[in-house]
Amino acid sequence: MDGITELAPLKITCTSTRCEDNLHCFRLTQRQRKNGPEGRCRQCGIEPIDWSRVKRRDISDAKHTIAALQLELIRHHFWHLPLSEYAESYAIRKGRRALRGAVKHQLAKAIGSPIHPRQGRQTPRETSEKATVVHYAQHATATCCRACLEEWHGIDNGAELTDAELGYFTDLVMLYVTTKLPNLENESQRIPKRIVRPALVKEDDGSFALAG
Ligand SMILES: [Zn+2]
Ligand SMILES: [Zn+2]
Repeated sequence: MDGITELAPLKITCTSTRCEDNLHCFRLTQRQRKNGPEGRCRQCGIEPIDWSRVKRRDISDAKHTIAALQLELIRHHFWHLPLSEYAESYAIRKGRRALRGAVKHQLAKAIGSPIHPRQGRQTPRETSEKATVVHYAQHATATCCRACLEEWHGIDNGAELTDAELGYFTDLVMLYVTTKLPNLENESQRIPKRIVRPALVKEDDGSFALAG
């Protein structure tokens, strides 16, 4: 992993691959889909994912799902990308409890109904100043658009998401948040929208102060 991050940064897109590092892309072209089998890497053809297990959408099996997601380069990128100051402070200002509600609301709005298969494609990337931790998480968990939902989670493009499905995706997004921000408080914390590195440290009275 360390050796990988030291490489010069490249623009990573939904279809990027680095197969030699076991980082693939499972988004096939229409023609590749026709020629089958689905679920293989578009570049090297490897089939390392147990798709039927991932598509069970069982949150108690999330560890397996998250490991599988990280075999796709674009997901791996977001699982390992440090959060921007804005994305991090967004989460701290909301607190875990309110964030969970915001996640479910955002998922319902962005990918809840099948208005268009490209719905949700506009989920901001990390280069956007306004990308929150939820946007990072959406890319990491393949809940960024209906195409990714279908590819990874087996949700038919024509289907309205059920409350149970939204709940599952919310749980998955919150697992990403926990991975990135293990010390996130349940309640909202008052901090400025933009914080200056070095990172904040928590004082004894519960307030945040700049380190150093
Ligand atoms: Zn590959
Ligand atoms: Zn997507």
